[in-house]
Amino acid sequence: MTQSETLFEQAQKYIPGGVNSPVRAFRGVGGTPLFFKRAEGAYLYDEDDRRYIDYIGSWGPMIVGHSNPSIKEALHRQIDLGVGYGAPTAIETDMARKVCELVPSIDMVRMVNSGTEATMSAIRLARGYTGRDKIVKFEGCYHGHVDSLLVKAGSGALTLGEPNSPGVPASLAEHTLTLSYNDIDGVRDTFATMGDQIAAIIVEPVAGNMNCIPPVPGFLECLREVCDASGTVLIFDEVMTGFRVALGGAQAHYGVTPDLTALGKVIGGGLPVGAFGGKRAIMEYISPLGPVYQAGTLSGNPLAMVAGLTSLNLISEPGFHDDLSRKAETLQKGLKAAADKAGVPLAVQGAGGMFGFFFTDAEQVTTFDQVMACDVERFGTFFQGMLKEGVYLAPSAFEASFVSAALSDDDIAHTLQAAERVFATL
Ligand code: PMP
Repeated sequence: MTQSETLFEQAQKYIPGGVNSPVRAFRGVGGTPLFFKRAEGAYLYDEDDRRYIDYIGSWGPMIVGHSNPSIKEALHRQIDLGVGYGAPTAIETDMARKVCELVPSIDMVRMVNSGTEATMSAIRLARGYTGRDKIVKFEGCYHGHVDSLLVKAGSGALTLGEPNSPGVPASLAEHTLTLSYNDIDGVRDTFATMGDQIAAIIVEPVAGNMNCIPPVPGFLECLREVCDASGTVLIFDEVMTGFRVALGGAQAHYGVTPDLTALGKVIGGGLPVGAFGGKRAIMEYISPLGPVYQAGTLSGNPLAMVAGLTSLNLISEPGFHDDLSRKAETLQKGLKAAADKAGVPLAVQGAGGMFGFFFTDAEQVTTFDQVMACDVERFGTFFQGMLKEGVYLAPSAFEASFVSAALSDDDIAHTLQAAERVFATL
């Protein structure tokens, strides 16, 4: 038995499923999740002392690599000063200023402790600001485990929400309209009939929770247009794409400006942080300035702030995102070439420092239905093969992959050689 197997057995006695977040349990790919004890740069080290090239990066935050010396130093310095005061600190303003500088659509920002809190608060704010209840989300987009957002679509362009988790009241879910990602006509039709009842559209500007699906040309622009016409708040959930697709996020990359933005992952440098921000007139609706309540005992925690701010300073270096994109593109091209060589149909796509691949005959994957039609079993076999080769990919066919600045050209070459060997076995 490996150490990971022993630890997983023990964990399952005390933690539901042995994990504190479901996808970690390897349910989608089979086998035992690896337990890690150390990480440095581009590598993870498991409890059995095996090394893995990491393409998850703690699900996004580790954009500069693990155990970055500057982040560690900032954390050590802050630990000596105190780990939290529950009162204002200068570093919170430094952080807020930095976020506003990097993301021009954000005039004001509030820190929270997770991406879930960020989207939950942004939705509440949009509802409070507009005085409307309905919200629009897209099938296959994940925005954290917020009650209103745990809603799945049925067939057709529009489904009045049915909760897809027990515990979410139908009376709450019915306010969530679920549309198809990248379906411009579906959006226009919905807004033509009920635009004036819709408080917000929330969207991942690059979908990263049904693998990786960039927006088709005109999709994000259409969302902006219908929101402007109907007084609806456009919320970009950039928890994943923020500071990763480009320094200014997907909104900078695609040139479409939301009213509110939810942030997470990179913004905390690996510590639990989220944030939401946007137009001043809307943000001033938040307590204590305005009537919409939102709060957090640990929000703006100084440890989280120094880690996050150091991370944002590191990624603001000139050329950082060019290098990140180059790495992601090399991987995409290499994976496609390796799959072609083995005669394995594969679609590969990405945006900036995130990418995805699909076992499908399609050239490109742009819709949720196409994602669902991909060969998930084959992904599982590929995943296990890569794990044996020392490459740690996301343990699900529905997750995007992330690169970090710590990844070397040798790591990428090793990954692609491994992929060639594994594709040949499929
Ligand atoms: N929004 C998006 C786009 C996400 O990818 C995630 C998490 N993967 C969340 C929100 C929720 O963030 P958290 O897990 O920090 O609550």
